[in-house]
Amino acid sequence: MDDDCVFCRIIAGTEPASVIHEDALCIAFMTLRPIRPGAFIVIPREHIDHFTDLPDDLATHLLRVGQHFGRRLLTVTEAARIGYVVHGFGVPHAHLNVVPQHDTLDIISARFVITEDGSPFRVTETAIEITSRDQLDAMARALAAVPLPL
Ligand SMILES: [Zn+2]
Repeated sequence: MDDDCVFCRIIAGTEPASVIHEDALCIAFMTLRPIRPGAFIVIPREHIDHFTDLPDDLATHLLRVGQHFGRRLLTVTEAARIGYVVHGFGVPHAHLNVVPQHDTLDIISARFVITEDGSPFRVTETAIEITSRDQLDAMARALAAVPLPL
C-alpha cells in the first residue's frame, strides 16, 4: 500500500471507483477518463510500478481477468474490437487498460496529441468527453451482469 498512489487508495476503499470485479489478486474498475465508454482498468492489489516487474503468474491473471471482462465489454458496447494497452504512464501502479474500439484511432497516439501549452488537441468530434460517476457505475453494473463464468 502506497498512500500517495490513487490505485492503492481505490484498493483500500478510500478513493471512489466503479468496480467491476475483485478477487484476492486484482481489482477491475471503470476508467475515470475513458477513451470510449466502457473502458476499464485491471490492477494488481500489490503496489508494483512496472508491469514488467509483475510475477508472471500475476501478469497472466490480470490478462485473464481483462480478457474475461473484455468479452463482456464487446457484448455490452457492440464495439468493433477490444484493445489491450499497457503503457505504464499516468499512475505508477501497474495497470492493464481494456478499451472498446469503435474506430481505428481509438487507442493510437494520434487520439492523444497534447499541444505545447498542455491542452488536448481536438482533431474531430471524437475528442474524449468527461464521463460522470453515474455513467461509470452503470457501465460497471452492465459488465458485471453479463452471464459469463470467470
Ligand atoms: Zn499503488
